[in-house]
Amino acid sequence: MEKILISACLLGQPVRYDGRSCPFKCSLIDLWQAKGLLVPVCPEMDGGLPVPRPPAEISPGGGPGVWAGTARVTTRQVDVTAFFIKGAQAALDKAVACGIKTALLKQKSPSCGSCRIYDGSFSRSLVAGMGVTTAFLRQNGIMVFGEDQINQLPQAIAHNK
Ligand code: SF4
Repeated sequence: MEKILISACLLGQPVRYDGRSCPFKCSLIDLWQAKGLLVPVCPEMDGGLPVPRPPAEISPGGGPGVWAGTARVTTRQVDVTAFFIKGAQAALDKAVACGIKTALLKQKSPSCGSCRIYDGSFSRSLVAGMGVTTAFLRQNGIMVFGEDQINQLPQAIAHNK
């Protein structure tokens, strides 16, 4: 079975902006981890951002939609777009190096979100859209699912064969 790229925070690694993780408990995760199929990645750390770090969102007008290079990712004060693009490229490089065609990434994140992200107003409001890493991966033919879509992964992987 092919390997799967996964958000490191879903595996319990304390890489979130607030220094915490968001472990995703699921028998499929346990199975894939036991088989050594999961390749963790944290694009924001790989892009050079520290833990902890200020929360960031994709600016209003930047989404929803495919990352087109014109949107900005900002904290309340600072443009951090370059860090997010660097991290997205690192995630893509890792996926390509491992022959990965499928990813399971954390919903709502401005990097990893695949269906819903925060709207850039820092008011906890969600909009349809995807994070920078998800957009990079999808633009390069890698299927990305959120953790709430994990049951779709086995079928997607079977189709890759
Ligand atoms: Fe998790 Fe992705 Fe955010 Fe890193 S960038 S903390 S892997 S959601």
